[in-house]
Amino acid sequence: MSGRTSAPGIEGEVLWRGDPGYDRAWEGVLWNRVRPRRYPEVIVSAASEKDVPAAVELARSRGMRIAMRAGGHSWCGSPLRDSGMLLDLSQLRRMDIDTASATATVQPGVIGSELAMELMRRELAFPAGHCATVALGGYLLSGGLGWNSGLWGPACASVEEVEVVTAEGGTVRCNADEHPDLFWAARGAGPGFFGVVTAFRLRLHPRPSSVMTTQYVLPLTETGAAVRWAAEAAPRLPPNVELGFILGTADPSLVTDGPPPRTVTISATAFSDTDRNAAEALAPLRDCPLASRTLSRQIAEPTPLDSLYGTASDAWPAGHRYAADTLWSDAAFETLLTKLAGAIEAAPTDKALVLAPVAPVGRKPELTADMAFSALGESYVVPFAVWDDPAEDEANFRWLREAMHAIEPLGTGHYIAETDLTADPSRARRSYAPEDWDRLQRVRAAYDPQGVFHSYLTP
Ligand SMILES: Cc1cc2nc3c(=O)[nH]c(=O)nc-3n(C[C@H](O)[C@H](O)[C@H](O)COP(=O)(O)OP(=O)(O)OC[C@H]3O[C@@H](n4cnc5c(N)ncnc54)[C@H](O)[C@@H]3O)c2cc1C
Repeated sequence: MSGRTSAPGIEGEVLWRGDPGYDRAWEGVLWNRVRPRRYPEVIVSAASEKDVPAAVELARSRGMRIAMRAGGHSWCGSPLRDSGMLLDLSQLRRMDIDTASATATVQPGVIGSELAMELMRRELAFPAGHCATVALGGYLLSGGLGWNSGLWGPACASVEEVEVVTAEGGTVRCNADEHPDLFWAARGAGPGFFGVVTAFRLRLHPRPSSVMTTQYVLPLTETGAAVRWAAEAAPRLPPNVELGFILGTADPSLVTDGPPPRTVTISATAFSDTDRNAAEALAPLRDCPLASRTLSRQIAEPTPLDSLYGTASDAWPAGHRYAADTLWSDAAFETLLTKLAGAIEAAPTDKALVLAPVAPVGRKPELTADMAFSALGESYVVPFAVWDDPAEDEANFRWLREAMHAIEPLGTGHYIAETDLTADPSRARRSYAPEDWDRLQRVRAAYDPQGVFHSYLTP
């Protein structure tokens, strides 16, 4: 070894616990300001994909388990594990777009919105995550429920091939014909994937020229009626309309006096080829019987991609403390959201919110064929606690636990990308259909028999 901050064959930084620089690197691992006090023995920042086999070799030679990080957006801090190696892939940010074949090869550290904006300039699109800062690595491996998923499916349905450095340190190409089991696992295994993905080949989609949104913001007391009306209209919306409910607190600009009230928002975005078709797609939501009760409303207004990202960034401000969890369910949204309205009413901060995308992929099983990702219900909800002050940690964690307890009896599973894997030991298992979970264990045993890679985080 040529020095403590380097290692043979590794161009990037190698920081052992106790080295100057380790604490700074550790603090930068997670986007969430809640940083579980778990400390890897060494943090290796890959300078390029060439560093990855050498990092795997270093870990193996020292008997260290490996955890990976791309963008650090795991809510529950999955990249941070005690002991072993943390392999940081955030500098792997190459993206090669081939407009003619409508394909792209991207590295895991590429940020979803950077890809989406670049594609837009080339009349192409990809279902990147809703938030502008999410990296593609963890998002694509987990399935990825992003913009226009109702039409395009989970983002991993548009992954055609992955390049993986395996537990043995070799680099393999995985697709439907080569290493099909590993390819199947790379489309959904998420934070339990047992290899390092250094590149994804993506199939791209034609850019929707018109993006329009219809939105109603109503007092939280209207949750039952509002959700019932929109859920009844939902089957009349085409798959290129993304409908969702948000429970939260009104923007202060919407009220003239007093504190902003808690609200229920119905939001539907159409991704279409023309303004006329987008407006038509949103027509079933045009005449809301509760319109006179709205705090704000917009009917089929143009919402370019950057404004969609702006709205998402307002919902998930950077530099905050977060706790999140998920539930798939077959229960009616009205039932689920009426219960969660009670939770939002009692939320410890105005920033808490509940998102409930309507049937993002549940209606179309063909969009989720041949992948580890499991769409386990028609409905899907995500409560988020959002706060600033570490002194409020306990109140916010408790709030999230109680919100989940209120709805868990109605649950059919969890979404691996956003579930709190520390909530109970069976979280990861219950994020997959039983046959998919069993297959994941078999593929893991075949590709990583010695457990070189950490498996799912547990409490
Ligand atoms: C603000 C915000 C908004 C979000 N919005 C959405 C959304 O709209 N839709 C959605 O589906 N999800 C969303 N998520 C969840 C997000 O998709 C997951 O947290 C995802 O893991 C983030 O990717 P990442 O690369 O930042 O993950 P990281 O935290 O870096 O990694 C998470 C895990 O993924 C694995 N991993 C990452 N990269 C690799 C790799 N190259 N090779 C092998 N394993 C790897 C590791 O096991 C790691 O522990 C959001 C999260 C946040 C914080």
